[in-house]
Amino acid sequence: MGESQRHSVIEITDVSIGYQGKHNTTTAVCEHLSVTVSQGELVCLLGPNGCGKSTFIRTIAGMQPALQGSISLDGQLITTMRPDDLAKKMSVVLTDRIDDVNMSVYDIVSLGRYPYTNWYGKMTDNDEQVIFDAMRKVSVEMLAERRFQELSDGEKQRTMIAKALAQDTSCIVLDEPTAHLDLPNRIEVMELLKVLAHSTKKSILVSTHELSLALQVADNIWLMQKNGPMLYGAPQELVRNKSFEQAFKLDSTVLERFLMNLV
Ligand code: ADP
Repeated sequence: MGESQRHSVIEITDVSIGYQGKHNTTTAVCEHLSVTVSQGELVCLLGPNGCGKSTFIRTIAGMQPALQGSISLDGQLITTMRPDDLAKKMSVVLTDRIDDVNMSVYDIVSLGRYPYTNWYGKMTDNDEQVIFDAMRKVSVEMLAERRFQELSDGEKQRTMIAKALAQDTSCIVLDEPTAHLDLPNRIEVMELLKVLAHSTKKSILVSTHELSLALQVADNIWLMQKNGPMLYGAPQELVRNKSFEQAFKLDSTVLERFLMNLV
C-alpha cells in the first residue's frame, strides 16, 4: 500500500500522561506527546526504564486517563467510546504472566470474541471461523485442545496474540510481549508481529526493551526519553540522527559499534 493511501488509525495529540495523587495533585510522567500509527504499520515504543512506556500504553488502551490531550481511534475520541465499542477497535496484550488458567487454547482465543457475542456468549459459525483463522495465523491451531497452563512461554504468548486477532480490531497494542521469552522466541514473536501488521493491515503498537529487534522489524520507532520530548521516525533515521544515544544517554562510540551491525 502506498504512503498516500494509508490513514492514521491511532492519533495522539498533545497528550500528557501520569498519575493522579491524593488531594487532586497530578504527577506528569511525560508531556506533549503527539504521534500517530498508520494502517498496517508496526510501531515499537522504546525508552529507558521508568521513562513511562507502560503508562503510555495503558493510557492509549483507555485503562487510565490522559492528564491532557486527545487520543482517537479511527477518528473517534477514546474517551467518548463505550467499553465494548473500544474493544471492537483495539485489542490489548499486557505483560502479566498468566500461569494458572485452566482453559484450553481454543477457550482463551475465543475470549477475543466477547465484544461480538450475545448475553449467553453463544458463538456463531462466523465466530468459530474467526477463532480458527486467528489460531492459524500464529500457528497454534495444532494446540487448540491443549491446556493453556501446559504451554511453553512462547506458545502462551502466541495464544494471547491469537486472542487479540480474534477480537478483529483495527489495532493491537502490546506491552512488553517478549518479557518472559528466550531469544529464539523473542525473535519469533517480533517477526510475527511484523508479518501480521503487513499481512492483515492492522496497526500494531508494541512497547519493548528489544532495541536490536525493534530496529530490525519496526516500520517506525517511538523513542521516549526521561525528561525530554518523544523522538520518532524510521529506525535508520533515528540511528543516523543519534536519537538512541540521546534517549539512552549512551556513549556514542559504544552504541555506534552496536548499531552498525544492525542497520
Ligand atoms: P516504563 O514502562 O518505561 O519502565 P512506567 O510507565 O512503568 O515506565 O513508569 C513511569 C513512571 O511512572 C515511573 O517513575 C514510575 O515510578 C511511575 N509510576 C508507575 N506506576 C505508577 C502508579 N501507579 N502511581 C504513581 N506513579 C507510577
